[in-house]
Amino acid sequence: MLLLAINAWLIYQTRRTELAQISRANSNLAQAVTAQVEGSIAEVEHVLDNIVFALERSDLTTDSLQRMQPMLVSQVAAIKQLKGLFVYDAAGRWIVNSEASWDPSRNNADRSYFVHHRNNPSVRPLISAPIVSRSSGEWIIPVSRRVNDPDGNFQGVVLGTLSVRNLGEFLNKFAIGQQGAIAVILAGRILVRRPFSEQDLGKRLPASPLQTLFATQPSGTADARSTVDGVQRIISFEHMQNYPVLVTVAVGKDEALADWESTSIMQTAWVIVLCMMVAGAGTFVIRAIRLRVQAEAGLRDARDALTEANQRLAHLAQYDELTGLPNRRYFDSRLHRAFREAQRDKHSLAIVMIDVDQFKQYNDRYGHVEGDHCLQLVADAVQSVARRPYDFVARYGGEEMVMLLPKTDSAGAERVAEAGRVAVLNLRIRHEASSLGMASISLGVACLTPQAHDMPEDLIRVADAALYKAKREGRNRVCIDPQPGFAAG
Ligand code: GH3
Ligand code: MG
Ligand code: MG
Repeated sequence: MLLLAINAWLIYQTRRTELAQISRANSNLAQAVTAQVEGSIAEVEHVLDNIVFALERSDLTTDSLQRMQPMLVSQVAAIKQLKGLFVYDAAGRWIVNSEASWDPSRNNADRSYFVHHRNNPSVRPLISAPIVSRSSGEWIIPVSRRVNDPDGNFQGVVLGTLSVRNLGEFLNKFAIGQQGAIAVILAGRILVRRPFSEQDLGKRLPASPLQTLFATQPSGTADARSTVDGVQRIISFEHMQNYPVLVTVAVGKDEALADWESTSIMQTAWVIVLCMMVAGAGTFVIRAIRLRVQAEAGLRDARDALTEANQRLAHLAQYDELTGLPNRRYFDSRLHRAFREAQRDKHSLAIVMIDVDQFKQYNDRYGHVEGDHCLQLVADAVQSVARRPYDFVARYGGEEMVMLLPKTDSAGAERVAEAGRVAVLNLRIRHEASSLGMASISLGVACLTPQAHDMPEDLIRVADAALYKAKREGRNRVCIDPQPGFAAG
């Protein structure tokens, strides 16, 4: 968007510079054409002055006039734009001229320049609007001067004619494009114009703001629609210094700006292509970022899944699948830790080994699936009696379980063991092969305030021995093995 705005601004700026350049070139051209045409008129004026000078010194007899004729012919030959030279007497009769021969009965008293000079004492030259020559039939611009006798009375007119065709060819030399126009204007009337058209010759230009500008300024440039052909042009004008003649040089605005226009279109096209490329790259980057975000989310999901799997594995490594109790490995590590703490803090630590009574027969009778189920119920019951925060119940192996009871003396441990025994009995799991008719457990309690040399394995071993004793004494009971250093807690 910004690029497009900058582009538009640049195009506008180049257009302004372009127009300024066109104006400058145009007004230079107007000056050059003006100087050239003015030079031609001045040359003719000079020739007329010479003829008048010669006439004033001659007696105007037929002979002397005839002697002048070759001089007029050579002047016409010498000056390219000069078409003919003519001298008329006070009555408008042709008395001498540059033509090879002429009809002596001809009279130019009716020509407007003749009337002007006859009525006007000024000897200033007069430029008139184009007319068709009576001698050649060609379009000419008359430049004329009054001739006086020594008393200042009107004695005739000298006339030099400028060839309109010649002037037109001169104007055609300048490169001003198809729509370009150059006009030489005399007091609001066209003397000659490019593109050339006979109909334009002598035509009076209608009043317009442009004409007002021409009338009020010695030179200048304007942007206007032509009153002759309606084309929008950049027009420069320049007045001649010595004659009431004005030259206008105009170039078609569209034509002059054609290069600028094609360059601008090209430039805009490139800017649009550039914008599209930038937009494309932007979309690419956004898509890449989105893909990256997605990839990161995927990685996060994978990491979470992995963490969860690890946690599950860690759980599996520490717990028994069947009963949901901590497994033997976990128990061992807890036992060692609790043992060290008890050694350090010098408090008693108890463990209770538990074994389901006549479980082999239970399996044999009810099958392994029922056996598993029975184990689960027993595990829950045992767990439910170890209620203190540091109490820890684990599956020790097979149908054996173990309670770890930190900061517990033998009486306390025995109470917890007894509660466990009752809890299992209260399950009232049918066990026909047992003498009780229902499932029961035997429990062996060991309790110790460990010294530096005691080992956790000693505690296990003593509890095992107590359990063995309970079995021997008839099962479904709690035994404390009274080994030295133990039992008292
Ligand atoms: P006692 O009263 O002397 O302990 O008799 P018992 O039959 O329980 O003795 P023993 O230790 O010889 O038998 C243990 C039986 O427990 C062996 C095995 O069939 C069974 N058992 C061990 N672990 C599992 C288990 O995970 N699931 C099932 N269903 N049975 C188990
Ligand atoms: Mg056993
Ligand atoms: Mg058993």
